[in-house]
Amino acid sequence: MLPYFSSDFGNPSSLYGIAQVARNAVDKSREDISAILNCRPSEIVFTSGGTEADNMGIIGVAKALYANGNHLITSKIEHHAVIHSMEELESQGFDVDYLNVNKNGLISISDLEKKIGPKTTLVSIMYANNEIGSIQDIANIAKLIKEKSIQFKKDIYFHTDAVQAPGKLDLDVKKLGVDMLALSAHKINGPKGVGCLYLKKGTPVSPLIVGGGQERQRRSGTENVPGIVGFAKALSIAELNKNKFNNHCEILKNKFISCLNNLDAEILIASPLENCLSNVVNLCFENFEGEPILIGLDMAGICASSGSACSSASLEPSHVLLAIGIDPKIAVGSVRFSFSLQNSEEEIIYLEKKLKDIISELKSSIKI
Ligand code: PLP
Repeated sequence: MLPYFSSDFGNPSSLYGIAQVARNAVDKSREDISAILNCRPSEIVFTSGGTEADNMGIIGVAKALYANGNHLITSKIEHHAVIHSMEELESQGFDVDYLNVNKNGLISISDLEKKIGPKTTLVSIMYANNEIGSIQDIANIAKLIKEKSIQFKKDIYFHTDAVQAPGKLDLDVKKLGVDMLALSAHKINGPKGVGCLYLKKGTPVSPLIVGGGQERQRRSGTENVPGIVGFAKALSIAELNKNKFNNHCEILKNKFISCLNNLDAEILIASPLENCLSNVVNLCFENFEGEPILIGLDMAGICASSGSACSSASLEPSHVLLAIGIDPKIAVGSVRFSFSLQNSEEEIIYLEKKLKDIISELKSSIKI
């Protein structure tokens, strides 16, 4: 990325020599990403990240298809980048169905089948969930949507938020059968503030950002050249290391799960045991709130996250945990642990020890 901040700082849309160096770097990055996604380079639209890619694939496409119908379908466990895009469209006259999921975080294909009707133009179902790690059967969902398109004699488009998938799951858009797929660089050790939308050739889109007409009129604004270069490199590395990453993280995750019995607490594993990202496990510590556990972990140098968001002084349980049927009182005790190639088995032992200390400290302070 460094040369594109300094010696090769040209604007890819200009005509002078250093601009061409920047243009070539963007083109090469687009080609590298499209090779991993098994699509044409022109089907990649660079964005400011996963949120914008989701907004574009949902708001941009639904608006362009408005004349064909105003009915959209998604699930209850989507990231807010999708849920809030849907809510925005509802405020503009669209009807949205939010599908239930089972305790493993999976939608039911037959529920989806019942909801698709003559006014449906777009379905958005995430590939892998960011809070619990559940992986949807995207290829089968796509197959159903194609069958329904034939039945209703109209195109029904399928968007997937795949932000959590790179380096863990197959990103071949042809095998997945999707029309739009959103990615973000920072989930794979790439730079923050850059991502892309795979937009299948022929998919109508009404641009969210208008101006100079970059990205084939689909997303205006001078390209973030260092970010795009870093994104393509991060995606190539993640793809190359996929098997190694999954094997390593499964070992760490299993080791961690097997030591949970040694902790003096009631713990509910909110993540599914099958069809789950290799690197994610979400635990609900019953009788505790997630936040003090996170603070204790942070003081021990361990970075984890909570599914709860603190709003107006009350701890709101995560919409994902509620959707998989977890009691709100238990859901507030959620902590999500995620592992990577940078973690070791020794660190799992350290994590177990620190969790023991935190639990005993919290118990003595709240006298459970
Ligand atoms: N979708 C999912 C599943 C995510 O996990 C995230 C980020 O946490 C996003 C979308 C948003 O991506 P970004 O932070 O690049 O805007």
